Amino acid sequence: MAITRRAVLLGTGAVLGYGVAWATRSKLPVYDGVALIEPQAGEDVLNDASTLSATPVQKHIVIREDPGEALVSAIRAEIREAREGGRPFNIGAARHSMGGQAIPARGHAVTFDNGFVEVDSGAEVYRCHAGARWSQVIAELDPKGLSPKVMQSNNDFGVAATYSVNAHGWPVPFGPMGSTVRSLRMVLPDGELVTASREENPEIFGLAMGGYGLIGAIVDMEVEAAANRRLVPTFDRMPAEEYAPAFQKALDDPNVTMAYGRLNVERAAFFEEALLITYRESANQAELPPAAGSGWVSHVASYVYRAQLGNEPMKRLRWWQETTLGPMVAGGETTRNSLINEPVVTLDDRNPNRVDILHEYFVGFDRFGDFLAACRAIIPASYQEFLNVTLRYVGTDAESVLTYAPVPRIAAVMSFSQELTERGEADMARMTRELVEAVVAIGGTYYLPYRPHPTQDQLLAAYPQAPGFATAKRALDPDLTFRNLFWDRYFRTL
Ligand SMILES: Cc1cc2nc3c(=O)[nH]c(=O)nc-3n(C[C@H](O)[C@H](O)[C@H](O)COP(=O)(O)OP(=O)(O)OC[C@H]3O[C@@H](n4cnc5c(N)ncnc54)[C@H](O)[C@@H]3O)c2cc1C
Repeated sequence: MAITRRAVLLGTGAVLGYGVAWATRSKLPVYDGVALIEPQAGEDVLNDASTLSATPVQKHIVIREDPGEALVSAIRAEIREAREGGRPFNIGAARHSMGGQAIPARGHAVTFDNGFVEVDSGAEVYRCHAGARWSQVIAELDPKGLSPKVMQSNNDFGVAATYSVNAHGWPVPFGPMGSTVRSLRMVLPDGELVTASREENPEIFGLAMGGYGLIGAIVDMEVEAAANRRLVPTFDRMPAEEYAPAFQKALDDPNVTMAYGRLNVERAAFFEEALLITYRESANQAELPPAAGSGWVSHVASYVYRAQLGNEPMKRLRWWQETTLGPMVAGGETTRNSLINEPVVTLDDRNPNRVDILHEYFVGFDRFGDFLAACRAIIPASYQEFLNVTLRYVGTDAESVLTYAPVPRIAAVMSFSQELTERGEADMARMTRELVEAVVAIGGTYYLPYRPHPTQDQLLAAYPQAPGFATAKRALDPDLTFRNLFWDRYFRTL
């Protein structure tokens, strides 16, 4: 079904409000010979959630309304103008990727900021503009008793962006979000508007799923929903070594519909204990309450989370809060939508001298013990403040070309607080490479939307499909118009 809406609203030059950080104020980070480009006076600068990707752009356009078919013409014109000027073109949404994955250097950047969502309750699918945020999707689905099938743990991100990084969530037993997309419409680099799905243009569907905006401009999508349900949690504390089999047992239980884990993070007993949280449907499914979003428990938890910085006793206190107090005060019934309707800002550090940097690693269930050992050897010895790790399940993804889960994997989502100094950045780069090395050695992979610290050789070891992806992209986009810092860093020379 075509989506037709109001007029095009293209505002130019509206650079997002991220601060131009230390990276542009002092020496710029250099990644194996590929330096970030220093902005000239008067140039627009685009950044991302890391605040470390400040990059000059020729033009930045924000699309705030869904203009229907007029959008396709506007996007085509923008792509053509970029190509004729020999400049790159790239679309972004919430810009929470952390290594310029949505930034075209000295090019044409487009931000999709539009929330049109149309729900087909009977078929349990919705159609949405590519830039719709998960908060907007939940707002439409919730009154109809539906919920996103797979999305990230926060509700700020764009739906097409989620497909473009092929993000995962914590409802089980699903693969990444791409597995829940029925079809999409995309403007290819040559301006052709195509539908891509498992039946139509399946190669494009698989390339663009986790293809980091390098294949085409997604304009709208059809995505599967799930039933929203009342859920009840169970909390199980255990030695970390017992987590993988306990998690597998929970996944084998068809009554478990959401599940995640945590590990303790204080340096003295790093990653020694685990907590497994599983949600099962409540016997009471009457009158679902509206999706609650961030409540007082989240805000108190956020306060304790931040107080962990440089404070080992506070890290122990947080573990007690998670394993003992939390189950007592937050252990009651909730809904699927309330659990996932959480904005990133709840955890915002509001500290101009530091930034939260995420890492994520995907490892086989049989290698989880080796993963724990590698983390214990590498992370506490670093200069970084480690705040949190969440353990999730990702089912097999045999569809996306750049798959990170060719077999079922445990995903470890790690949150660091990084000092905004050169020594902080250098230490983060060193530690990241050590972690990637160790994870690849045990048959695992790492996630691509974060900082570009892994080397090109490490990307090739973790993603052996990368050269094939680059070849297919060049065939679709011989002028290399769709480019961003991710392409420039890792694929340019493949
Ligand atoms: C606090 C936090 C929590 C997170 N939690 C999770 C999690 O639970 N699970 C998980 O898997 N990931 C998680 N992530 C990573 C997150 O999924 C990615 O960073 C994702 O890119 C964020 O969406 P965005 O809207 O900010 O994307 P952007 O950074 O704006 O874009 C991401 C990519 O999508 C492409 N793109 C965007 N829109 C289009 C379009 N219309 N057409 C073509 N390409 C497009 C861009 O070019 C870019 O390559 C988290 C990140 C943060 C910062």
